[in-house]
Parts: sequence; C-alpha cells; structure tokens
Amino acid sequence: MAQATARSVFVTGGNRGIGLAIARRFAAAGDRVAVTYRGEEPPGSEGFLAVRCDVTDSQQVDQAFKEAESAHGPVTVLIANAGTVHDRLLVRMSEADFTSVIDTNLTGAFRVAQRAVRGMLREGHGRIVLISSTSALHGAPGQTNYAAAKAGLVGFARSLTRELGPRDITCNVVAPGLTETDMSRGLTAEQRRDLLRQTPAGRPARPEEVADAVAFLVGAGYVRGAVIPVDGGAGLGH
Ligand code: NDP
Repeated sequence: MAQATARSVFVTGGNRGIGLAIARRFAAAGDRVAVTYRGEEPPGSEGFLAVRCDVTDSQQVDQAFKEAESAHGPVTVLIANAGTVHDRLLVRMSEADFTSVIDTNLTGAFRVAQRAVRGMLREGHGRIVLISSTSALHGAPGQTNYAAAKAGLVGFARSLTRELGPRDITCNVVAPGLTETDMSRGLTAEQRRDLLRQTPAGRPARPEEVADAVAFLVGAGYVRGAVIPVDGGAGLGH
C-alpha cells in the first residue's frame, strides 16, 4: 500500500541480496529509496537512486547521504544492511580478518547511523533498522569476528534507544538466519545441512521475508531496542 507521504529511505548494500529486497519493499510502498553499492549497481529500472559508498570510509558515507538528501530530502529511514563474512577458526584468524569484518559490519553501521541521526534529530523523526544475524545470538564456529560484530549491533541499538529517549526516532535490530543470497551460497553443503537441521521451518528464508520484518519495525513506532529473529524458528524467539 502506498504511503500518504513518501519517506526518504537509505539502504546500505541495497544492490543485491537482502538489501535489494528491502529497497524493493519500500519502493513498492511509494517511498523514495537510495541504495548504496560498491561494485555493481542494482538491477536497472528499479527506480532507486544508486549511490556509490563503501561503509568503511566515512567520507564516502557523508557523500552518499548528501546525494540521497539532495534527490529525496532528509533521510528519515535508515537500513544498515551492508555486511561481509570472513570465516576462519579463531586459531587461524589473523587480526586483519577480525578487524575488517568488525569495520564493515559494526563500525560501518556506526558511521551510517551517526550520519543519519543528525538529520533525524533536525527532522524530529526517524527509523533505524540494523541487520544483524542469528550468529550474534547463538554463535557459529568460524565466525568469532562476524558474531562479535553482529552482537555489537544489539548493544549499539539498545544504547542509542536510551540516548534518543522520548524522541520519535527508533533503532531496532533484525537478526536473519540462513537466507538465500550470494552470502549463504558460500556455505558448504554440510554447513547448510547443519543449519537447516536446527531450523523448524526446514528451509532458508527468502530475502523478502527479512524485508517483511524490516517494514514492520519501520511502521511500529513504539517498538524500540528490539531484536527480531527471522530464522524459521531456529532460536525459538531468541
Ligand atoms: P550479500 O553478500 O548478498 O550482500 C552483501 C551486501 O553488503 C552487498 O550489497 C555488498 O555490496 C554490501 N557490502 C559489503 N561490504 C560493504 C562495504 N564495505 N561497504 C558497503 N557495502 C558493503 O549478503 P546478504 O544480502 O545475505 O547480506 C545482507 C546482510 O544480511 C548482511 O549484513 C549479512 O551479514 C546479513 N545476514 C545475511 C544472512 C544470510 O544467510 N544471507 C544471514 C544473517 C544475516 P557489494 O555488492 O558492493 O559488495
């Protein structure tokens, strides 16, 4: 259903996978959507504004927001979705393997949220959703870097919720389980089987099912600092 007033929505990593499904969801509701990409632009004729941005670079983040704001007005909905994996058992993990994953998945969310919140405070309104992972809640072998970054998003969202207090600016977290995207295609057949064995739904999520939870949180102004698992029941609500 179209919104009464089109919102200015900014989705990091919106050129493919979960981010693209989220961007399509908002565009279908009539919102003005900017998506970031590094290499490949989102598929053509989607009606998004595509802005080049690596979330590990705060100057690129600032420039991308400027482009989005000049085309669509102040960003009032931020979806911090950009993420990466670099799985290795801890004993084999280099410091660069660890810090690069933290830099994209956690510090990247800090960079975009800080940039967005300044404008949201001026507007007196905002919605922020951070895309975490069930790895944050249950852990996963080979993912000390990724799980630490994704768990960091939970503390980040809850602290920001307390900072924002009674203002109409919310920050929540969506924690997907196994979802059909390029990222999950990197898993071995055995890893995939193990994950699905622990998943009552017995199948991976479709990216659109993660977008459903994001859209809910953006519409739900009294839900704050929450973590919504989208995991086919793998964590039974946790
Ligand atoms: P994809 O690998 O399909 O897409 C990752 C997206 O993140 C791409 O748009 C990519 O941009 C972007 N990205 C990666 N690094 C950076 C960076 N430094 N700066 C800007 N953009 C970057 O993964 P998904 O769609 O599956 O993942 C989306 C989110 O969901 C991630 O945060 C991921 O951790 C999380 N997630 C995914 C799960 C899954 O099973 N798929 C499960 C749980 C959580 P580019 O195209 O330029 O590389």
